[in-house]
Amino acid sequence: MEIEFAGADREVTGSCHIVRANGQCILLDCGLFQGHRSDADAKNRSLPCPIGDIDAVVLSHAHLDHSGRLPFLANHGYAGPIHATKATADLTSILLADSAHIQENDYEFLSRHGRAVQPPLYSLRDAARVGELMKQHRYDEWFDVASGVRAKYTDAGHILGSASVVIEATTGSAVSRLIFSGDIGRTGLSIIRDPAPPTDAASVVIMESTYGNRDHESVASARDHLARVVRDTAARGGRVLIPAFAVGRTQELVYHLQMLSRENAIPPVPIVIDSPLATAATRVFEQNTDIFDRSEPAMQELGDLFRFEHVSYTSSVEESKALNGRVGPLVIIAGSGMVEGGRILHHLLNGASNPRNTILIVGFQAEHTLGRRIVERQPVIRVLGNEVELRASVEIINGYSAHADRTELAAWLDAVRRTSPELRTVCLVHGEEAAQSALSASLTAKGYAVRCPARHDRLTC
Ligand SMILES: [Zn+2]
Repeated sequence: MEIEFAGADREVTGSCHIVRANGQCILLDCGLFQGHRSDADAKNRSLPCPIGDIDAVVLSHAHLDHSGRLPFLANHGYAGPIHATKATADLTSILLADSAHIQENDYEFLSRHGRAVQPPLYSLRDAARVGELMKQHRYDEWFDVASGVRAKYTDAGHILGSASVVIEATTGSAVSRLIFSGDIGRTGLSIIRDPAPPTDAASVVIMESTYGNRDHESVASARDHLARVVRDTAARGGRVLIPAFAVGRTQELVYHLQMLSRENAIPPVPIVIDSPLATAATRVFEQNTDIFDRSEPAMQELGDLFRFEHVSYTSSVEESKALNGRVGPLVIIAGSGMVEGGRILHHLLNGASNPRNTILIVGFQAEHTLGRRIVERQPVIRVLGNEVELRASVEIINGYSAHADRTELAAWLDAVRRTSPELRTVCLVHGEEAAQSALSASLTAKGYAVRCPARHDRLTC
């Protein structure tokens, strides 16, 4: 088996690894590169390998940095299978459709304003085609990927449906195995089960390293922090504005707000989910309750995790606009997660200068995003072309991260090693340089042979 690294190498986006075995060629993920527009665009428009070579795609989870170039493959004629868990297939469909829609709108807007721009990477039709190519699988069951190659998913505990993958190639009597971690989640998150490290012995592990240099706040303290922010802001008569990722973060917040409300830890404040994508994602959650983590007592007691008397979901733009006129305390959860687009911008334009309000940041904010400028508490921010004084208070909760921290990453790998005595090499991917070098040093000290491959590096296993 040979691996070629074709994305998320010494960076956090564009996840793609090419596995060649038995004359077959398999892609592990085919994600979007994100970041500086022109750089990312050039990478996104080049294929990882000739389309005719690809026999199958094995997808780890729905996030666009793992799935976002699949419609581009379809657009270039790829018609083979795309393997995924059921929840990943469901979530990927709505995320790819949303991504195609945004690209088509941006293209239309920029060309109308006389800007020379490349056409969208793919269309809504290409995104729908990906849905037709999906083959759905359960966790912990082998499935055939290509001739002489099979795979098995285990729960990665990162977002709904997320998986780590074991790839097994058999040639004659020789069997070789590779483990790809996908993105690894945290232990103790609500709704999502804890990561289940694969137990099939492998000689090579490809592992993510996003937070290889950081430990997170605990999930329990994140929930207490959330309660305090809602109580304090409501006492001032203000609004809590939460920019949140539509998949995972929003559902976890709604679930925690419902629990806090039942425990009377927060006052009965109306909570509005103002994001069509989050509403669609919540429906996918409701269709995949069989893979929820039911270990928390509250999960047994609550009939409906995401719907209760104080919560509502907007559907039309008019309903969203009408929120501006509401008086009294309110919690608004809206996209986008890094405040780069979506309805949260309108709520910030209306509310960021009011010192009674709170902007609550619950996710990673990359450089050069409006979210990062809010985290830095810049005195004036630019929202939808307007200068707005940032006088609302800003609170940051790190405990809602969907990624394992450095302690959890090491624990996941230690569990894999217990059942993989022949483990030779650990390849770190999906991490920036500082995170990778810190994790590489701590794993090397524990006796692992670690590599941080560059793009197009190859490795035989
Ligand atoms: Zn992810």
